[in-house]
Amino acid sequence: MSLAQGRTYLAIPGPSAMPDRVLAAMHRAAPNIYEGDIVTMTRGIVADLRRVALSSSHVAIYISNGHGVWEAAIANLFSRGDRALSLATGRFGINWALHAAAMGVAVETLDFGLKAPVDPARVEAALRADTEQTIKVVLLTHVDTATSVRSDVAAVRAAIDAAGHPALLAVDCIASLGCDAFRFDDWGVDVMVAASQKGLMVPPGLGFVWVSDKALEASRASDLKTPYWDWAPRLNPEHYYEYFAGTAPTHHLFGLVESLKMLLDEEGLAHVWARHATLARAVWAAFDAWGEGGEITMNIADPAERGHSVTAVRIGGGGAARLRTWCEEEAGLTLGIGLGMAEPGTPEVANYLRIAHMGHVNAHMTLGALGVMEAGMIALGIPHGAGGVAAAAAVCAQG
Ligand SMILES: *Cc1c(COP(=O)(O)O)cnc(C)c1O
Repeated sequence: MSLAQGRTYLAIPGPSAMPDRVLAAMHRAAPNIYEGDIVTMTRGIVADLRRVALSSSHVAIYISNGHGVWEAAIANLFSRGDRALSLATGRFGINWALHAAAMGVAVETLDFGLKAPVDPARVEAALRADTEQTIKVVLLTHVDTATSVRSDVAAVRAAIDAAGHPALLAVDCIASLGCDAFRFDDWGVDVMVAASQKGLMVPPGLGFVWVSDKALEASRASDLKTPYWDWAPRLNPEHYYEYFAGTAPTHHLFGLVESLKMLLDEEGLAHVWARHATLARAVWAAFDAWGEGGEITMNIADPAERGHSVTAVRIGGGGAARLRTWCEEEAGLTLGIGLGMAEPGTPEVANYLRIAHMGHVNAHMTLGALGVMEAGMIALGIPHGAGGVAAAAAVCAQG
């Protein structure tokens, strides 16, 4: 008998679970988009976006998803033929580099595979080898959502500095902002991109770019910019419509005000990070226990190298695909597909899934999702070690 009726839970790495308060804030009549409250509100949002990234930078808001702000960063930072060094740790880093290459950037990729974070020593060596210092920007993915690996942003900055190289550091925090600790200023980041539908708990539709003074200066001469993607008017608008190069995304802004208030003023960023860390450890404890008695492994072996918002796992024998279907049909829980872990079209694809623990999630949601997964393993006869849910509960009990 299916037990899926009731509130469903989409535990995929974006869109994340959204607070009803955010949705309710969006449920209202359209505001005046020329003047008045919306202008003040947008200024407040920009200030809060700085706070959520611990940044004193400039912030541009785009009506777009994450792919859009990838292109925003590229369009503003590069001229045709400029060089970039891309640090790949999974599908997302690889795809950002492909976008850059398609736009005319000469991209060199350091690939760290699917199971390891960026090795700063290799970054330093690659930059030292660039004796003419023509590499303009280093592209880094903080948490690669496909592999769930997390790289050390500050260590990459230190590697750039140790090489005595002037390259800018651009970081994709789409899967980590509002989940994992991130410090734009302290870590010496020049450009950071994020989107509304993950840690920020707002529906998909807004993309954000944080821009340091240095990056703004470097972007003035770039020739890949087009009027829509040019960040200069958005960062310093003379007229309100310039924030968005046209009509404001009114209702998304109402939602964002509410989510930023929840993250920054009510829960507090330190607690938001700690909550994600603890829920992540609960998930990992369950997989550790299940893995004792079956072909179940987390993609990233070292917990210190795992992102706190998503966990990529392998369940052999096609177990991952069968479990995803069971959880959705029988229990109202949707888990993420594996991404970039196996050759598309091969049976190996059915061995990968991802569980998100990002955004508006708490202990009962995470323990509930793990309980459902354990039920599915039992129902489907997927071999697994005992005590997964109990191990996760013990983590939550400690807080
Ligand atoms: C989700 C994600 C993206 C892509 O964002 P979309 O909104 O789906 O375009 C890019 N990078 C990372 C790290 C992501 O998690």
